[in-house]
Amino acid sequence: MSFIHFHDDVLFTQQLLAAERLYLGALDGLWGPITERAYLEFSARSTAIQQEFGAFDTRSEQNIATLSLRAQRVCRIFLARVLEGGMRVRVISGTRTYKEQDELFRRGRYGNPGPRVTNARGGCSSHNFGIAWDIGIFTAEGGYVTDGEEYDEAARIGLTPDIEWGGFWKGFPDRPHYQLRFKQPLSIVTLREHFEEGEAIQSYA
Ligand SMILES: [Zn+2]
Repeated sequence: MSFIHFHDDVLFTQQLLAAERLYLGALDGLWGPITERAYLEFSARSTAIQQEFGAFDTRSEQNIATLSLRAQRVCRIFLARVLEGGMRVRVISGTRTYKEQDELFRRGRYGNPGPRVTNARGGCSSHNFGIAWDIGIFTAEGGYVTDGEEYDEAARIGLTPDIEWGGFWKGFPDRPHYQLRFKQPLSIVTLREHFEEGEAIQSYA
């Protein structure tokens, strides 16, 4: 079974499961039988998708398992295409809870070490709603390529009509970033409102 690992944030898990219409109970942050059942169903469906498309490396699998079911499918199709194109690519980031996003935001700020890695606080990144993933490209020796033409090449090979690529963003292009495309572009604020109310973001696909 593939398991998402947000047990320490029950409310966030409930919101993810509600967006799938698997959890229709109260968004109360309490783990009970209804949450458990929804969670097991989500895991079973994730495993079925994995079996349908085939498993990738461990790190990619761990991150894909955090995505919404639709994003899992779209991401797996994308990843298979890029790998078939001969690139060494992995999914290095998937869904983050608001708390995890806030921790990331604090890096390089408020006296914390390291470069700044994001401008988004919790609830302000598409990674907080189960719809986005980042890739890493690696050399034959296993070295991590942080940026470069390889990322344009991966998009050229892997993009499908279901995907919005961060590399096309005006202002702050984000070339390792991919997310689900919706019929009408949805702002982060709209995504957040739907997500927090337990509404089905996926149905806007
Ligand atoms: Zn990203």
